[in-house]
Amino acid sequence: MKFPKKMRILCPHCKKHTVHEVEITKKKPRRTMAQGQRRFLRKMKGYGSFPRPQPDHEKPTKKVDLRYKCTVCGKKHMRGSGWRAKKFELVKVD
Ligand SMILES: [Zn+2]
Repeated sequence: MKFPKKMRILCPHCKKHTVHEVEITKKKPRRTMAQGQRRFLRKMKGYGSFPRPQPDHEKPTKKVDLRYKCTVCGKKHMRGSGWRAKKFELVKVD
């Protein structure tokens, strides 16, 4: 789907409608030394199975993860937990 790059929505910090820039979030790099990651690596060592059940099929779509940045105060916020779309792009709307 196509989505506008700039929108006029409510800013929870300014408490009024302002122009927001829409951003797609980038995936964070894996924390290699995090406790959960270390536990997982130890579990995967040697014989034995994967620590949690693996899904037998993958969903055909991914959820879009967006952040809205207020152009007045510069703060970012979310609106809901996103929705599923096969293809997602931001388009400039004038
Ligand atoms: Zn604001």
